[in-house]
Amino acid sequence: RFISFEGPDGAGKTTQLSLLSRYLDDRDILHHCTREPGGTPGAEAIRNLIFDSRHNLVPRAELLLFAAARAQHVEERIMPLLEKGIWVLCDRFTLSTLVYQGYGRGLDRELIGQLNAIATCGLAPHMQLVLDVEAEAGQNRVQQRLENNNSFDALSEDFHRRVVAGFREVASHDAHCRLIDGSRNPEQVHGSIVAALHEGGLL
Ligand code: C5P
Ligand code: MG
Repeated sequence: RFISFEGPDGAGKTTQLSLLSRYLDDRDILHHCTREPGGTPGAEAIRNLIFDSRHNLVPRAELLLFAAARAQHVEERIMPLLEKGIWVLCDRFTLSTLVYQGYGRGLDRELIGQLNAIATCGLAPHMQLVLDVEAEAGQNRVQQRLENNNSFDALSEDFHRRVVAGFREVASHDAHCRLIDGSRNPEQVHGSIVAALHEGGLL
């Protein structure tokens, strides 16, 4: 099983990934937790490049680096794990690229889709859990978490609103997406995620 956690900044993706990991541990379900961009040494090096504000990366350069990191991650880590029957829980995947670089930065969404297909060799998550929060609420949560000190945190309110709206739009069209209300407390959101996995036949 391959599950991705998607959604705007401050939606609770990382928190929910840990809660699902604990749930799977309790049931002795083998799984691996990872994130994008990153997840292998090479892809983490690309991540550091992407988030280094000194480079002033233009949106297309940023997009191509996300794709490069993903290609490495998929081939070196995700595919081999799935072939062994190990679940993969991934903090962000292709949907984040479509939404941030497409709806957020305004790059062509069809081209992003093609690039995602190249990077993944067609591998797609069995379920994309899209955590939904209002832009303001997400930004407030990010403000309270100071350890993430990268250039992306200074994103404009307008950008964030486009990202939130983008996730809602793609989630409503894609059969593999589940839009989950992330504004509730973590245990409630976790309950909805477990329910979605049951409904989807993944548990
Ligand atoms: O996964 P996390 O929320 O830590 O993401 C780190 C930062 O990268 C976020 O601030 C997010 O806005 C940004 N990002 C992006 N484009 C992506 C994925 C993440 O701009 N495709
Ligand atoms: Mg996070």
